[in-house]
Amino acid sequence: MKLLNYVGGEWVEGRGDGARLSDPVNGETLATASSEGVDFAAALDFARRTGGPALRALTYGERAALLGRIVETLGQRRDAYFEIARRNSGNTRTDAAIDIDGAIGTVKFYARLGQSLGDARHLVDGGLIRMAKDPAFQALHVGTPRRGVAIHINAFNFPAWGLWEKAAVALLAGVPVLAKPATSTCWLASEMVRDVVEAGILPAGALSLVAGSAGDLLDHVGPQDMIAFTGSAETGALIRGHRAVLANGVRVNIEADSLNATLLGPDVAPGSAEFDLLVKEAGRELTQKAGQKCTAIRRILAPRAVAGQVTEALKARLEKTAYGDPANEAVRMGPLVSKAQQMAALDGFALLGREADLVTGGDAGRPLDADPATGCFVAPTQFRLADGRDGDTVHRHEVFGPAATVIGYDDEEAAFEAIRRGGGSLVASIFSADPDFQARAFLALGASHGRLYCIDAGDAEAATGHGIVMPMCLHGGPGRAGDGAELGGLRGLAFYHQTTALQGPVATLQKLAESGARTG
Ligand code: NAP
Repeated sequence: MKLLNYVGGEWVEGRGDGARLSDPVNGETLATASSEGVDFAAALDFARRTGGPALRALTYGERAALLGRIVETLGQRRDAYFEIARRNSGNTRTDAAIDIDGAIGTVKFYARLGQSLGDARHLVDGGLIRMAKDPAFQALHVGTPRRGVAIHINAFNFPAWGLWEKAAVALLAGVPVLAKPATSTCWLASEMVRDVVEAGILPAGALSLVAGSAGDLLDHVGPQDMIAFTGSAETGALIRGHRAVLANGVRVNIEADSLNATLLGPDVAPGSAEFDLLVKEAGRELTQKAGQKCTAIRRILAPRAVAGQVTEALKARLEKTAYGDPANEAVRMGPLVSKAQQMAALDGFALLGREADLVTGGDAGRPLDADPATGCFVAPTQFRLADGRDGDTVHRHEVFGPAATVIGYDDEEAAFEAIRRGGGSLVASIFSADPDFQARAFLALGASHGRLYCIDAGDAEAATGHGIVMPMCLHGGPGRAGDGAELGGLRGLAFYHQTTALQGPVATLQKLAESGARTG
């Protein structure tokens, strides 16, 4: 099977043999994908000229209704998507649910949120602002949908969620989308786009898909276009520094590497609820999607006096984890997505091993029902570093697999400092029963994180998970994490709008304030 590109309102076959998409359990080729020969300039032009005007002609409420129909369509093919996720990404059912149900849930959230914006076609941020003594001349901040294309370039680890968490927001904003999923796992994204196209939900040009490499796509970006990228910091830097992106002042959002931490408060003793909750959460974060989650815990900070007990408790959990072919129902963790990712993880272990002690794992292990030589497996892996001040690689190198390091700290300032050495992360979690410490940690770590997650015995039942991105909350982090910001309810719409300070006659501004949808 050769996956096709959906550009200019039609399915287009790329030239050549294309790149192989394979099953990471056994190396079997599942499909190929090629974008060679795709006319990217024409694809973007079609989206701008056809998709943009059609979407902008609708109200937020009407576009939200389209999202609602996408939810219905995707929901009908859920089982087929789970099967693709198992085969192409080596997902267990739980892993696939995070990606696929997470995708559908996010579109559903924006469908509901969009209804609340009603029949408006522009956003209003704040009220009228008086600038002079005479009230006749005032100002109002208004957001209008940008007239370019939202180019969404995604990572391999969330082919479904990555596609829809971005597309839902852009489409609600009234901006056409050109989605470019990572080639190695683009089968699922391609199947979902095909289903939505066949259901005839969206106007022509509102959604395009590239199945294969980005080619010369970025050479054709224009000043109203937006690029939202998720992937490695290296590719992020290439995109940010691309000649046409710089020359046209293209708006760019980057979601990149992140060395997320979890912190056991100084007040927490072994045997307490918070201690057990941290160990459980760290174990889940390491093994869910085989650690291929941008939000996964990579560093576990624990007071020196109890770091040994954290290490032992987590080790026992990891060594009990059944990993192997996800077709076996006993399996809790599947493979990494490709041989290249497996090699990168093993190389990362070698780097970490230079400064931290290996506690468990560290190799391809012995997967259930799979040949370790052909499969892309990595055993659940834990390192231990006695003092966070000593490490360097552990704070800089993200191993994108089932691995984390337990790091000891002396006092809370040392713990905060060690966490900040990650250079900016998507998320950090705090496990503590002390409300004063919880508040100090929130404020001390805020500047270097996009999201902070605090758990004690009281909120644990209701909590959504350290690594789970919720559409009503911001996703993105400063520094190494790319300095991006996605989702966050209505906040996410800002990226796809131009906010303009309108200065003029008060009566006109009052009318626009009344007819727009309020965001703040
Ligand atoms: P990647 O190699 O950087 O690829 C990401 C995407 O960029 C793919 O679609 C890739 O296409 C495309 N790409 C590569 N070179 C390009 C270029 N020159 N111009 C335009 N597009 C280009 O990253 P990955 O290996 O897929 O993902 C793993 C990384 O993503 C990890 O480091 C992880 O931390 C990060 N990540 C971050 C988040 C987040 O939300 N912050 C989420 C998930 C993953 P091809 O596949 O066709 O090469």
